[in-house]
Amino acid sequence: MDIIDSANEINELHIQTSLSNRKPAIKSHNGMCIWCHEEPVAPNSAYCSKDCGDDHEQYKRKNG
Ligand SMILES: [Zn+2]
Repeated sequence: MDIIDSANEINELHIQTSLSNRKPAIKSHNGMCIWCHEEPVAPNSAYCSKDCGDDHEQYKRKNG
């Protein structure tokens, strides 16, 4: 059906857009959060939570 085709196209477009707009990915080497080192990372993230990502961003801003 047309509706499903359109939905798939939109979905693919969205994936391509988010891939091409992605910042250089920070990756965890061991699957643990690179900030708190206590929790496994969330999918497609180097952090266990948004809080850890925000904290790290803040730290980087303060410390260059
Ligand atoms: Zn964390």
